[in-house]
Amino acid sequence: MALTRPRQRYIDAYSKRKAHYLRKHVYADRFRAHGLHDVARQLTDCQETEVLACCSHCGKSWYIINRCRLRVCPLCSYEVSKRRANQLIALTHQMKFPKLITLTMPTWTGEPREGIKYLRTAWNTLRKHKLFKTVRGGAYQIELKPKARGWHIHLHALVDCPFMPHQKLYSTWTAILGIPTSRIDIRAAKTTEQRAYAAKYAAKAADFYSDPDTVVLWYKATKGQRLFATFGHWYNVNLEELPHDGKLEKFVSTCPHCKSTGTVFLARDGPFFYGGKEWTKLSKYFMNDLPTEEVITEIRDDIHASRTAIAETKKLTAYQQEFEQ
Ligand SMILES: [Zn+2]
Ligand SMILES: [Zn+2]
Repeated sequence: MALTRPRQRYIDAYSKRKAHYLRKHVYADRFRAHGLHDVARQLTDCQETEVLACCSHCGKSWYIINRCRLRVCPLCSYEVSKRRANQLIALTHQMKFPKLITLTMPTWTGEPREGIKYLRTAWNTLRKHKLFKTVRGGAYQIELKPKARGWHIHLHALVDCPFMPHQKLYSTWTAILGIPTSRIDIRAAKTTEQRAYAAKYAAKAADFYSDPDTVVLWYKATKGQRLFATFGHWYNVNLEELPHDGKLEKFVSTCPHCKSTGTVFLARDGPFFYGGKEWTKLSKYFMNDLPTEEVITEIRDDIHASRTAIAETKKLTAYQQEFEQ
């Protein structure tokens, strides 16, 4: 009897997420059909394979669950938005007057990439407007929803400001947009329920249960585009470091062996940090859990590689941030 219990638990956990897994494979098929084989492969492998992680500090390597972190991945986007919502709730606790502002524009019938650009430019202009003088800062998320004939592109911003006059914001926003039929919404995010509501909206980038072809279009429209950002007082803040209630689930970036942080990278990205030739040499050490300090120093001593090392430090910082996104 005891033997069957772990198996039972595994199936339960799986069936909970079964729909996400199935959808992931349906999307992968569509990406393949559109010739986007790399995306298809990443989706297929996501959370069904393991990848080798390495620590540049102690030289140990270990396997972790492979996560594609693609915004079109039903598994990853769900996890990221849940995690981000928790971070945003933590953010509202640092705000004196937390509010959720939603800014829309009429259905965009042109290229969605251009639509995102249009909305972002308008938003940047609005932030410089005197109406935003009392806004201390916050975070915003651009959302893109497929409509029958075009895209519904809008923005949710979590802001800290004592007062925001609805009518004035509406007229200013439409004047900046140059299109009169836009809608806006302002609501307080003070109570626990309001905070949760606001955070949920400000954390969600993709909401597509529509047909897989639209998901491919959504991917193409948003590829390489930053849809979420913090600004003002919270510009470049590490959301991970905000005091929170402990519910935040952190992606593995602390070495389980030496407990170093900011030193973990995936073996497949090794050539990116160290250069192809250097990585061929280095990887043997990582794979065999041999001390890497000496060989890394050796590489750094080399004039050419010392440049690589400087780049490596910079790249690793940027990479870590990307890793956490
Ligand atoms: Zn994924
Ligand atoms: Zn380590």
